[in-house]
Amino acid sequence: MAQTNDTDQFKKVLSHAKEYGYVFQSSEIYDGLQAVYDYGQNGAELKKNIREYWWQAMTQLNQDIVGIDAAIFMHPTTWKASGHVDAFNDPLIDNKDSKKRYRADVLVEDYCEKQRLKAEKEVEKAAKRFGESFDADMYRQTNERVMGYLKAAKEPVERLARLLEAEDLAGVKALIEELEIADPDTGSKNWTDVRQFNLMFGTKLGASADTATDLYLRPETAQGIFVNFLNVQKSGRMKIPFGIAQTGKAFRNEIVARQFIFRQREFEQMEMQYFVKPGTELEWFKIWKERRMAWHRALGMDASNYRFHDHEKLAHYANAATDIEFNFPFGFKELEGIHSRTDFDLKAHEEYSGKKLQFFDHETNSSYVPYVLETSIGLDRMFLAIFSNALQDETLEDGSERTVLKLPVALAPVKAAILPLLKKDGLPEIANEIIEELKWSMKVQYDEKDAIGRRYRRQDANGTPFCVTIDHDTKEDHAVTVRDRDTMTQERVAIKDLKNYLEERVSMTVLLKKISK
Ligand code: ATP
Repeated sequence: MAQTNDTDQFKKVLSHAKEYGYVFQSSEIYDGLQAVYDYGQNGAELKKNIREYWWQAMTQLNQDIVGIDAAIFMHPTTWKASGHVDAFNDPLIDNKDSKKRYRADVLVEDYCEKQRLKAEKEVEKAAKRFGESFDADMYRQTNERVMGYLKAAKEPVERLARLLEAEDLAGVKALIEELEIADPDTGSKNWTDVRQFNLMFGTKLGASADTATDLYLRPETAQGIFVNFLNVQKSGRMKIPFGIAQTGKAFRNEIVARQFIFRQREFEQMEMQYFVKPGTELEWFKIWKERRMAWHRALGMDASNYRFHDHEKLAHYANAATDIEFNFPFGFKELEGIHSRTDFDLKAHEEYSGKKLQFFDHETNSSYVPYVLETSIGLDRMFLAIFSNALQDETLEDGSERTVLKLPVALAPVKAAILPLLKKDGLPEIANEIIEELKWSMKVQYDEKDAIGRRYRRQDANGTPFCVTIDHDTKEDHAVTVRDRDTMTQERVAIKDLKNYLEERVSMTVLLKKISK
């Protein structure tokens, strides 16, 4: 399994997600179902807000992108045309001693990442030794030990790519043995042969066994967009270039699913297919790389959490591909894929369906099959990225500790907690009046239990960006105290201004406006 560079943080993420109603194991009372998760009362809100942020950024900010909602079930020929029936496989390998199953390619990739980390450790050590004049890049290019590690980080993945391309599974096993890769859990090197395993879930449509049709649960949402290309283009009078966006569930029978919501068997994708004129796709690839990174960066997570990983091995249909990787608690891993898919998908659907899927260009008076740029991000992975980054333990000036979930404000499940200082003297009534006014534009929560300090801590851990306290002075000055989750500063705000005060800070518009900056 991936090396854990912060196991403790990951454990905290798991327990906090459960304790505060973000993520539960599916069917937990029956001991759960492996790699399937449920989102609780807070998780469902956070997930909905992330989806909304993506959806609005795509379909509201861009005149040339529209959204659809295709069915999960699709005609089975779809998956022949897309290549999933024949080639949506992962190479799996079992350890004979531990009986654990792994993805052979992931074992090799994790090995390489370890070598890269060793190289970076050497660079860090040298940086400390040499001080300010140190040139890290030069060191990487000249120091023998570092060069050795970097070579060991690069060569195996390149060899792996060639072996998989040639479908040489015996070669993949030989590579694992040559690198002396051991079972990460037990250290055993006693491996089975490598086999291919199709990741699609099959099911049946129809009442009786002999008339039933074999179907698949969709393993990606993209194909629902491709098969609707002409419907949308014609009914929306769309002109090239234009995009179709979609969010929805996808299903994959993942071989290894041990990283919480990072790799699930049922998950949600947010995909956008952008149709362009052939020959312009690499320009658009560059533009979409920048646009997607700007979307991420607007959330305020540090730039050092992200990196692009350009693909060494391009899928047969792609002429450029990159991943946006995020620094998860278990290291840098794929969060989003950006692919230049050429005309592969539309052409394949033309061939299998016998229907033309072309754009008629009035300027040149000719038809062509557009090329496609795809951006594809896992909603659950985005959730994990945001949640794990937000979860922090802080030591305060007075030496006390607090756990705070610094979620991007616009994505927080509850925007403000409304807290009467005491359960009497008319304070709860004022609190309820405030809720009545705020509830039309944001989700707020009433809480009167425990001392105010404990309530603040509870809301900090819950990720609520603002606490609004109603005290005895409120009756005189018609104002409340608003406490900021991150800075813990407090401000007196007139009740009549409260709605605007909060909206200016928590609305999705504020977040969306940060994208272009
Ligand atoms: P990986 O290499 O991690 O298996 P992938 O390259 O197969 O991912 P894509 O087919 O490009 O992934 O899917 C697009 C996005 O969907 C990924 O970037 C990821 O965020 C998300 N995704 C894919 N598989 C899963 C899964 N099993 N659970 C959660 N999210 C997933």
